Amino acid sequence: QAKGGRNGHFAFFDPTMDTRLHKDMVMENHLRRAAHLHEFQAYYQPLVEIDSGRLSGMEALARWHRDDGTTVPPDEFIPLAEKTGLILTIGEQVIRDACRQMCRWHADGFDHLGLSVNISSIQFQDPGLLDRIRALLDETTFPAHLLTVEITESAAMDNVGHTLSTLQSLRAMGIKIAIDDFGTGYSSLGYLKRFPVDLLKIDKSFVVDLPGDADASAIAQTIISMSRTLNIQVAAEGVETEEQYRFMKEHQCHKAQGFLFGRPMVAAAAGEFISRFRQMRT
Ligand code: C2E
Ligand code: MG
Ligand code: MG
Ligand code: MG
Repeated sequence: QAKGGRNGHFAFFDPTMDTRLHKDMVMENHLRRAAHLHEFQAYYQPLVEIDSGRLSGMEALARWHRDDGTTVPPDEFIPLAEKTGLILTIGEQVIRDACRQMCRWHADGFDHLGLSVNISSIQFQDPGLLDRIRALLDETTFPAHLLTVEITESAAMDNVGHTLSTLQSLRAMGIKIAIDDFGTGYSSLGYLKRFPVDLLKIDKSFVVDLPGDADASAIAQTIISMSRTLNIQVAAEGVETEEQYRFMKEHQCHKAQGFLFGRPMVAAAAGEFISRFRQMRT
């Protein structure tokens, strides 16, 4: 808004915008410093195979441990990390951390466990992505066939030509592919059929209203039956109640993830979870 100044000059100045810009700049500096200090690490959330009740693996979810002792969740730093390109460094740190940790759990005898990692759209567009992942697998010795790369449905639909060739290259390396937050984007059946996809993750916004809500129930059932037609597995994210789990079991959803089984945990807690976990009942 333009204000007439007392001595005849105009200031084009929106105080709310200034604070935002300023906050972003401060935050960007903090992020840059944090990336330099390796303050990002992986938390681990279990993924359960519904049929067998077994633990199928862990999803690595980024957390920022600030030197003031606070832990910052991804929603608060990933948007800016994407805008500034810092997501490339941060993402690599999280994946490296997770691959190393997973190898320790494999060495402890849990060598069937898979690892899922999230790739944002900027990471996915990065021409160096395949080399980075190949180098990380070499460096950490984590087996490619136990790695799943999760990309959101909207990132996958951004540039379908690029998506197709990148997914094919990942697949050729033996890596599995999951479409995250499925149902929130606009993918057509045609693309899903062409993309080499192993798993669709039903977005938690559809799961939260189950089993009571008729629309949510219809959407979840449609995703499950469509994926069966396409020979793709399905996972439900955000499963918080026994009823939601039972719904997924009845409709033959393959995997489930959510607070009902476990929240994202630091490595030590996740390790205990893994060694205690036997089988999901019901
Ligand atoms: P996402 O990959 O879809 O992960 C699922 C999110 O849902 C996680 O939030 C998880 O904590 C939360 N969640 C899991 N179970 C439940 C549940 O039962 N109820 C509810 N209400 N929430 C549940 P989080 O950890 O805050 O991560 C948010 C998003 O940030 C992730 O969504 C992912 O898109 C992104 N992200 C996380 N880590 C990374 C990373 O290392 N790299 C990139 N590029 N993105 C990441
Ligand atoms: Mg995910
Ligand atoms: Mg998701
Ligand atoms: Mg999400």
